[in-house]
Amino acid sequence: TRAIQDFDRVVDSVCPFCGVGCQTKVAVKDNTIVQVDGRNGPANENRLCVKGRFGFDYVHSPDRLTTPLIRREDAPKAGDMDLRFVDPMEVFRPATWEEALEKAASGLKSIHQADGGKAIAGFGSAKGSNEEAYLFQKLIREGFGTNNVDHCTRLCHASSVAALMEGVGSGAVSAPFTDALIADCIIVIGARPTTNHPVAATYFKQAAKLGKTLIVLDPRRQDLMRHATHALQFKPGSDVAMLNAFLHVIVEERLYDEQYIQANVSGFEALKEKVRDFSPEAMAEVCGVDAETLRTVARTYATSERSIIFWGMGISQHTHGTDNSRCLIAMALTTGHVGRPGTGLHPLRGQNNVQGASDAGLIPMFYPDYRSVETPDIRNEFEDLWGRSLDPARGLTVVEIMDAIHDGEIRGMYVLGENPAMSDPDQIHARAALAKLDHLVVQDIFLTETAWHADVVLPASAHAEKLGTFTNTNRQVQIGRPALDLPGEARQDWELIVAIARGIGLDWTYSHVSEVYTEMASVMPSLKNISWERIEREDAVTYPADAPDKPGNEIIFATGFPTKNRRGSIVPADLRAPDEVPDEEYPLVLTTGRLLEHWHTGAMTRRAGVLDELEPQGIAAMNPYEIERQGLTPGQMISVLTRRGAVEAVLRADREVADGMVFMPFCFNESPANRLTNPQLDPFGKIPEFKYCAARVESLKVA
Ligand code: SF4
Repeated sequence: TRAIQDFDRVVDSVCPFCGVGCQTKVAVKDNTIVQVDGRNGPANENRLCVKGRFGFDYVHSPDRLTTPLIRREDAPKAGDMDLRFVDPMEVFRPATWEEALEKAASGLKSIHQADGGKAIAGFGSAKGSNEEAYLFQKLIREGFGTNNVDHCTRLCHASSVAALMEGVGSGAVSAPFTDALIADCIIVIGARPTTNHPVAATYFKQAAKLGKTLIVLDPRRQDLMRHATHALQFKPGSDVAMLNAFLHVIVEERLYDEQYIQANVSGFEALKEKVRDFSPEAMAEVCGVDAETLRTVARTYATSERSIIFWGMGISQHTHGTDNSRCLIAMALTTGHVGRPGTGLHPLRGQNNVQGASDAGLIPMFYPDYRSVETPDIRNEFEDLWGRSLDPARGLTVVEIMDAIHDGEIRGMYVLGENPAMSDPDQIHARAALAKLDHLVVQDIFLTETAWHADVVLPASAHAEKLGTFTNTNRQVQIGRPALDLPGEARQDWELIVAIARGIGLDWTYSHVSEVYTEMASVMPSLKNISWERIEREDAVTYPADAPDKPGNEIIFATGFPTKNRRGSIVPADLRAPDEVPDEEYPLVLTTGRLLEHWHTGAMTRRAGVLDELEPQGIAAMNPYEIERQGLTPGQMISVLTRRGAVEAVLRADREVADGMVFMPFCFNESPANRLTNPQLDPFGKIPEFKYCAARVESLKVA
C-alpha cells in the first residue's frame, strides 16, 4: 500500500463490477489509477474483493478505443471469424466525430423512415449509470417509436423479476443482504456468492459464525458450503421438485402462518392442492436429496423466527426459471417470512447497475419504474412528457431481437456497452444476426466481439471516467464520481446518446447528467425524496424513502404489497424437465457461470493485469471421477460439444462439479461457452437456459 501523499487525488466512488455495490476510494496519480481501497459504504463497510481492489487497470489498457471508427467499404462482416488474429485497421478506419455521429444517426434514421420503428432495436447496458439507461430507453422509445429495447437483465434475473412482479408487485429485493446478520435462518440457493458477490458472501459467513442457520443449496459444491449447517447438492434442473417438497412439508405439517396468509396472501388453496404429490419421499430420487434432509430444511426455514432467501442465476437461468422463483416466493408468503427485518426475498443482482437499469426502463415491457407500456393511461403520461406518440405494444427481448434480425424484421441496431456476441446463447446464431444487420452502431470502451460487427464504433467512457448514479442489489442508489480524464477523443456515454438523439431530429438539450437524473426521478415514484443533491451529499440512499431527510426503507412489504389488492399471490409451479436433457449422443449436462476473477464477457477483467494473470485461459471443469470415466487427463485440451457447436478448452479437475456435468465460464473469447448454450427461453421471463443443456466431451490429441 502506498502512502496517501503519493497520490494527486483520491476520489470517492463505487466499484464497477458486481451488484453488491461496494464503495471505493480511487487514488490517482498522473491521470492513472494507482490504488483502490474500500470505503465505509452500507453494502461493504470498507471491504472489497479481488476484482474491486485489483481489477482497475483495464481503464488504462492500450486496447481502449480513443477515436471513432467506421467500417471500411470492403471489410468482411465479422460473423464467426476468429477476431483475435485480425488487425482492426483492416476492418475499420478512423473517422472524425462529425462523420461518425452523422453516419451512426443517419443509418438508423433511414431504416426507421423506410421500415418504421419495428425495424430498429437497442441494447443498453447494466454497466452504465441510471442516467444513461434512462436516456437510452427514452431514445429508442421516443426517437424510433419502438419498445425494442433491452439489456442483459434478460440473461440474468428476468425470470426472477417476472415471478416477483406477479407475486409481490415489485421486482426489487425486499431486504438488503446485510440482514443475513439478523436472520435466524438463511437460505442461499442457486447462487455462488463467494465467486459472484464476494463481499455479500462475507456477511453470510459472518452470520454463520454468529451461529445462524445457513442452508446452501446448489447442484455444484461451493466454498460457502464449508460454513453451512446444511449443504444440499441437488440434481441440476430439479429445483421445482425440491422446492415443492419443502412446500409440501410446510403444508402437511401445518408450518405455515395462517394469520399472515389470511391477511396478506392469495392462492394458498391452489398451492396446497399442487404440492400434495410432492412429498419429500416422492421427490428424494428426483432431486438427489434424502427425504429426511428435505423435511429438516423445510422445518428449519418455516419455524425460524426470521428466515431470508437469497438466490442467483442457478434459479433464474432455466426454461423453468420463473417457476423456480414462484416456489421461493410461495415459501416466503406461506410462512410470513417477508416484510420484517431479517426476513425476505433477495435475488442477488449481477452487474453493478442491473437493478438501476431495469428500474430506469431499459426493458421492453416497462417504462421507468416498471410501468407497463401496454397501459393506455401510463403511455399517455409518457407521451405527454416526451412529446411523441409511443408504441402501444411491448417490444422484443434480447434473444427475440436476434431472431427478428434473422427474419429480416430488424435491420438497424444501437448497442451501448453490451456484448451480445459473447453473452447471448447459441453464439453462432447471435453473431450471424449481428453480421446480417444493415446498420449497427456500437458504443463501448473496447473493440468488443460485438463491436467487430459494427458499421460505426463510438469510443465511450469507462466507469472511472464518468459521473452518475448506480443502484445496487440492496436498492441503494449510489453516486459514482469521475477519477480520470477520458482517453484520446473518447466521449461521455450520456453525451453520445444525446448526440444520436439530436442526429435523428430530437430536440434534446441536457447540459449536465444531473438534469437527466432529475427528469428520470420525476417519472419514478420510487425515487421520490431522493434528489441528485441528496445522493451527492449522502453517497448512498435506499429507495423508497418517505421523506427527504429520512433514511430510505431497507425493508419493504411490511404493510402489504404494491399490488392492486395489496395482497401477495402464490402461483403454484409444476415440475417441467429442462428443454434439452442428456441422451446417448450428448450424455453430459453443460452448465455455465462466472469465475471470481473475471467479470461477465471478460471485456474488462481480461484486460486487468492481476485478474487475467490469475485466470489466464479458457477452461472446462469436471469432477475427477468423471474425467477418469471419460478417459481424459486434467490439464489436457478437450473439445466440449453440444448440438450448437464445439469449443476447445483446457480441462480442469474440480471436485465441486457434480458427476455427469461440465462447467464452463463464459468470459473467455478463446473458449466461448455461449457457442454451446441453448437459446430456448423461459416463457415468462424470456431468459435462456444457460444452466442446462446436453453435451459431450472429446479429447483433443496434439498431432
Ligand atoms: Fe466490486 Fe462486487 Fe467485489 Fe464489491 S464484491 S468489490 S462490488 S466486485
